[in-house]
Amino acid sequence: MQRSKALTEADRLMTICNSCRYCEGLCAVFPAMEMRRAFSGGDLNYLANLCHACGACYFDCQFSPPHEFNVRVPSVLARVRHESYADYAWPPALAPLFKRNGLAIALISAVSIAAFILGFVAFNDPTALFERRQGPGSFYALMPHDTMALLFGAAFLWAIVAFVKGARAFWTDIGAQQSTLAEPRPFLRAVRDAASLRYLDGGGVGCYNEDERPDDNRRFYHHLTFWGFMLCFASTSVATFYHYLLHREAPYPLWDLPVVLGTFGGLGLVIGPLGLYAAKRKREPAMVDAGSRGMDAAFLAMLVLTGATGLALLVLRDTSAMGLLLALHLGAVFALFITLPYGKFVHGLYRFLALVRYAKERLTAAAQSPSK
Ligand code: SF4
Ligand code: SF4
Repeated sequence: MQRSKALTEADRLMTICNSCRYCEGLCAVFPAMEMRRAFSGGDLNYLANLCHACGACYFDCQFSPPHEFNVRVPSVLARVRHESYADYAWPPALAPLFKRNGLAIALISAVSIAAFILGFVAFNDPTALFERRQGPGSFYALMPHDTMALLFGAAFLWAIVAFVKGARAFWTDIGAQQSTLAEPRPFLRAVRDAASLRYLDGGGVGCYNEDERPDDNRRFYHHLTFWGFMLCFASTSVATFYHYLLHREAPYPLWDLPVVLGTFGGLGLVIGPLGLYAAKRKREPAMVDAGSRGMDAAFLAMLVLTGATGLALLVLRDTSAMGLLLALHLGAVFALFITLPYGKFVHGLYRFLALVRYAKERLTAAAQSPSK
């Protein structure tokens, strides 16, 4: 199969870097590269997804522009990464969504929100959207809980199937063994590296953005975004537990666990992505893949929309704005769910799998040379 321009360029850069090796202490990409003499397409996709885009190797490189070697590892690996998302997408017919991700997400969000508003109206009468309702079960006066559970369960299931299919395609393409996934040591090491964003630290000094002064801003905002997402997920899980096992209906009191988790999660989902977007706008253009900007911005916007509508619903849930805000929030969450497998969210999945593979390679290499 013919290689894309990005893969051909990544192959050229990795061949130069493999001779130079100046950056081997910066992150996982260079040690993984050094274990290879030639680079298949799968190898390059593995290295690209291992890269955390910290930018250190661009500012440290003696061959970066204006040098004639034109070594731009962060932007070229970002392009390869972006192309790999479409290659592994399931079903393949939806892979083009990655190319027009910004527009697709905007359209899907608008349609989802409109569908929830119309759905509320269909279940009630148009004025129900603006009626004041309070107390347990008031959300479900607008749309029955079972209908919500069916819609979101279907969207969630779709996303899970798409992730599993994508993960299998990635794992096969990078030539990793199936059995590695069942080994606890590489898995736990990858969890530790992913949870701490270990390779977003530019080799220990921080992430490079607009100039040669590294800082930890991106890592901080990335943590806020990730943990915000996880807290919101935990909030929904606890609420589901309350509903089905304790027979307690939403909305819950402010001090109750789903609300506390959701509040902190929502704040993380608003502040984190805004910080990431601000940092992204300032980044040195030569380090960035211009073709990924729409996808990145659309994903961050979806997270902010989800967090902001959730917080607004919390603050105004006892007012007549509750119906409209609930429709907006559910529409945003639904759009987020169904677009997760076709946007920036997948970087977390492939990067984690790349970290598992890297941990396995390091452990194998250490076992083969115990004196090292
Ligand atoms: S990025 Fe530049 S300095 Fe770093 S290993 Fe590659 S060629 Fe060498
Ligand atoms: S941008 Fe950072 S993580 Fe990516 S290859 Fe360069 S040093 Fe490694």
